[in-house]
Amino acid sequence: MPVPASQAWTVATYVLKQKLKGRKRYPLVLMLEPLYRCNLACAGCGKIQYPGHILKRELTPEECFRAVEECGVPTVAIPGGEPLMHPRIDEIAAGLVARRKYLYICTNALLLKSKLHLFKPSKYLTFSVHMDGQKEHHDFSVCKEGGYEIALDAIREAVARGFRVTTNTTLFDGVDSKSVRTFFTEMMDAGVEGMMISPGYSYDKAPDQRHFTGRERNKSMFRRILSNRDPRWQFNMSPLFLEFLMGKRDLSCTPWGMPSYSIFGWQKPCYLLQDGYAGSFEELLDSTTWENYGYESGNPKCANCMLHSGYEASAVDYTFSFKGVLATVKAMLFSRYPDAEALREAGQETPASPLVQLDGIAPASTLQGAEYSGESGISEAAEAAFDYRGDVTITLVSGDVVEGYVFDRQRIGGLAASKLRVLARSGEKMSIPYSSVARIHFTGRDMADGRSWEAWVRKYAERKAAGEKNIELAPEAIE
Ligand code: SF4
Repeated sequence: MPVPASQAWTVATYVLKQKLKGRKRYPLVLMLEPLYRCNLACAGCGKIQYPGHILKRELTPEECFRAVEECGVPTVAIPGGEPLMHPRIDEIAAGLVARRKYLYICTNALLLKSKLHLFKPSKYLTFSVHMDGQKEHHDFSVCKEGGYEIALDAIREAVARGFRVTTNTTLFDGVDSKSVRTFFTEMMDAGVEGMMISPGYSYDKAPDQRHFTGRERNKSMFRRILSNRDPRWQFNMSPLFLEFLMGKRDLSCTPWGMPSYSIFGWQKPCYLLQDGYAGSFEELLDSTTWENYGYESGNPKCANCMLHSGYEASAVDYTFSFKGVLATVKAMLFSRYPDAEALREAGQETPASPLVQLDGIAPASTLQGAEYSGESGISEAAEAAFDYRGDVTITLVSGDVVEGYVFDRQRIGGLAASKLRVLARSGEKMSIPYSSVARIHFTGRDMADGRSWEAWVRKYAERKAAGEKNIELAPEAIE
């Protein structure tokens, strides 16, 4: 079994209780993001492109506990940013373990070995190590030479010290399925309990826009990877979700199943899209127009998504139906999925290399330096500012000036009642009515504009081509 029996039992009784209560929408796993800063800057990641004052912020342990209790989930995942950079991550982990929550700390493992002493092994605590494939693929994916060895060493150390360890792997278009299959075996040999896999999601803020997969290509990629399965491989995921990835079953997105909470609040509608924030979990459930999201909605942002944050809770929910139980038992008993065609296709594929292609880097933004005023200008700027990963300077009608990051806009009725929500550089969280705004000026550098990333990835590629070893380029290295 890929998770301990006690965890499977806890989740099963929780889901059954929700069903008996007749809850149509219930959360299963909280994606808790106590900080956005990271010690890596992966090309496929759209989570870290924020101004410095946002990256310096973090949730306190008490704020984390409140969010977990508010939604009542049995399982919590802490992605990031890099959770081990949070100065109180040990308190957060201990508090959640004490609350008997099954906690997954998702880490790139660069700091894991040096911080293991802060944690106690527990059936409630798992380190989910980000590994994107075999050495060369992983190092290029995270833009750090030697990243694979550091993470593998930390995995072995954590396993040896009695911790639960899993891996999480994002697979992008052009991946070499034979290499991924060898990688799975390497991870099982390293002693991990199970593996989690996911297709890349095309974050519009991610620097590498080229390698994100479409739905059909996803299914074909996962069929090549997951058919003819080695019986030693264990996946820490619902077997029905894996069948969904392989194109063997359909599921509808249930984004409320894995809600996301961060320094901005409860994210609408899911871990991936940022379409505003709610102040409470209840408000998230009640105020999100759920029918606007998911593949069937026709929302272009959902068109290619097959991510666990939208679809794994759907698979778990389906498991607790008559047909779902049968399908799950079948998937567990016959988990090899023999498929001669998939084997042949895997033998014929031409993997793309390298993962990060310089001409795939996100285009530069044109907003920096723009200035808007007047009623329609403010409304237009509010929408643009919400999507801008830099600070703006807001001049109020009163003459006061606020500089900060616009993380949400609330369009309530007419313009007069609409508000901008800003995390000011001063640290204050502010709600500013549109009617109080005289001018919005895009003064901060857009952290997702592609220019710094381009310079950074170019530098990495040049140094790698020159045969340099131990390259380590944090984004600030080119500031
Ligand atoms: S389909 Fe994907 S992007 Fe769209 S709401 Fe669901 S999880 Fe979010």
